[in-house]
Amino acid sequence: MMWRILLCLTCVCTAYGAELPTVVIVATGGTIAEKVDPKTGGAVPALTGQDLIEAVPQLSKLAKIKMVNFSNIDSSQMTPAIWSKLSHIVDKELSDSSVVGAVVTHGTDTMAEGAFFLDLTLQSKKPVTFVGAMRDASDPSPDGPVNILNAVKLVTSPQAKSWGVTVALNQYINSARDVRKTNTTNVQTFDSGQRGYLGYIVGEKVLLYHTGRKVPKFHLPKALVKVALISTYAGDDGAFVRYAAAQGVKGIVIEGVGAGNVNSAVNTAIKDALQQGIHVVITSRVAHGGVFPVYGDEGGGKTLQREGVILGGDYTGPKARILLQLALSSGENEFKKLQSYFTY
Ligand code: ASP
Repeated sequence: MMWRILLCLTCVCTAYGAELPTVVIVATGGTIAEKVDPKTGGAVPALTGQDLIEAVPQLSKLAKIKMVNFSNIDSSQMTPAIWSKLSHIVDKELSDSSVVGAVVTHGTDTMAEGAFFLDLTLQSKKPVTFVGAMRDASDPSPDGPVNILNAVKLVTSPQAKSWGVTVALNQYINSARDVRKTNTTNVQTFDSGQRGYLGYIVGEKVLLYHTGRKVPKFHLPKALVKVALISTYAGDDGAFVRYAAAQGVKGIVIEGVGAGNVNSAVNTAIKDALQQGIHVVITSRVAHGGVFPVYGDEGGGKTLQREGVILGGDYTGPKARILLQLALSSGENEFKKLQSYFTY
């Protein structure tokens, strides 16, 4: 008899959400919250956070949702200063003991950088996942609703405790550290290359493939120093490096060729920047493999290392820029410590 009462109590509680975990959804904008403007034919911000969750009625069986409308912008307009505010708000929401995790809805164009910025600055250990959409809400089959549903499944799963900040679209789970956008229009756009997916969401299951890599943590700095990102190319005369150095930047990230090489003209401009006390990080414009000090000619990776350039490991240029900016803004200036942030 007793088990019947218990079972009934559980149903009643579940029905009224009494025992459902609380998840915060922080809406920032992006295609997931956009619709096509009939006047221009272009996708523009159109949905509030409430609209987003109303499109996913199944959420009510998974969690109690606390909605925070942070912004409603295309992520091409995002900045580290905005991500700094977002990180502070997400940490504040996670400090509520009843909240088990957070979902951030965000545009996909700069999602990899934004998720990485929060991975480096959130102090909470609770799971946070970034989610977006490749098809707007006017599309016959928008991918936003199912991505939000899967994101809530993810952050309420025990597996999520093994991961830092993640990016979850199209059922795949990527780490903020390794994720990159690889296709401009396809729903299967985020992957982590040779590092692989952290996991996969199928039905009610959240599958854990691996636990990913640790990243350094920084407290949110009061001000963010300027750090430039420059992609080099055949025939580059080093003018952009010189220009950046003249703009008062504290750091320059170079997307080099191959395993992290530049030509002699760029190497000369880098040496001048180093002379001015500017920290320089070399990454690669090649999709996978990262930077290695192999070549000893003028501008080769081995030569750059000898000259005091930081080797950027397998970080993409944009993520190396975020990492260097946070490290320098936190007052770190010592070469060895800065280099340690970029090791594999
Ligand atoms: N342009 C959009 C954005 O990044 C793309 C998307 O969300 O899929 O906000």
